[in-house]
Amino acid sequence: MRSAQDARTLLRYGLAAMLGLPGVAAFAQAMAPAGVSDVEVIPLPGPVPLPEPKYLTYQPVSRWPGTVQWFYNPAGAPAWADPAAVVAIVHGAFAKWSAACDVTAVYGGTSSATPNDLDGVSVVGWSGSIANPAATRYWYTGSGGTYTIVEADIVLHPGQVSDFTILDGMATHEAGHVIGLNHSDVQAAVMAGAPYTAYNTAVYQQTLRADDVAGCQFLYGARVPAGGLPTQTVVEFYHAEFDHYFITANASEIAKLDSGFFKGWARTGQTFTVLAPDVPRNGSVTPVCRFYGDPAAGLDSHFYSASPTECAQVRDRFKDWIWESDAVFAVYPADGATGRCPASTVPVYRTWNHRRDSNHRYTTRADVQAAMVAKGYIAEGYGDPPVVMCAPQ
Ligand SMILES: [Zn+2]
Repeated sequence: MRSAQDARTLLRYGLAAMLGLPGVAAFAQAMAPAGVSDVEVIPLPGPVPLPEPKYLTYQPVSRWPGTVQWFYNPAGAPAWADPAAVVAIVHGAFAKWSAACDVTAVYGGTSSATPNDLDGVSVVGWSGSIANPAATRYWYTGSGGTYTIVEADIVLHPGQVSDFTILDGMATHEAGHVIGLNHSDVQAAVMAGAPYTAYNTAVYQQTLRADDVAGCQFLYGARVPAGGLPTQTVVEFYHAEFDHYFITANASEIAKLDSGFFKGWARTGQTFTVLAPDVPRNGSVTPVCRFYGDPAAGLDSHFYSASPTECAQVRDRFKDWIWESDAVFAVYPADGATGRCPASTVPVYRTWNHRRDSNHRYTTRADVQAAMVAKGYIAEGYGDPPVVMCAPQ
């Protein structure tokens, strides 16, 4: 059992940039021969004493910018490996890391993409072509500082991963590679492995240890529990004369709108939950900025964004939009490519009235978004249907 696990191979591939992007310089290396260590060791000049035993990252330090979306390719799986059960175990393996630090992985479905190939799909699949029970390859791009992982594939050997127990331990270890961890030089770790330490058993590898958690948090920071943060309720109002929607979580504003201090506004009955503006942020939480469209410019409408980039652009370029706040409340960012929201959150949709007075409506209800689009509003955001931010459930 031990020898089989000792023989895993991690093959790492680097890229100057991802295929299909400008400045591409694809780099590939031949399959490592059987029996080699499953990490690429970068030699440094002279003796390099390790200051203390700890988790290790790759060189350069690489991590995912957002959610890891992975797919499963059941082609070539052994008979015992029921596809739904395999997906559940791999999902559970990623969930262990997500519980340890602020990295999120979502299952995207089945795929015919080949594991071990750079094709834009991070896939878990089977192949007897690897010499050892499991292998992870990842591709990264960037320069200076921290690099960005763009794809990671896990290959499982159908002859050597022979039951669900081994699969669980392997998947947990390989998922650690996928998020950017190298082998640790601490033996008491899921990520223990050659050449710094010996591999642990598959059963041992099913449970993350303190060193694994520390490595995970070095890369992604500590996870902020969704349920543990103070929340506020966003209330939506409608002004029939202007045909404008407005949202606020500010108690004073809500009181003034309800009392008629601001005339013409009525509650729509729609609300959703957000995080308080002053919650701690570590990457999983993002503030929402607010701008007020200058009435003198024919706007008289508010605009909200959970994208710090968009906030900065509006502030710099659109002088008719008066900056009001960097953080009226906080939310979770949607994945910039797919619009997917983290676990335990719901999508917030934004539609724009496509008029000179430029009013937006924000809702967590897909049917409301669809109704606005049917009225001629433009759906804005990431993915399809477009999502602009994610609110706690
Ligand atoms: Zn490994």
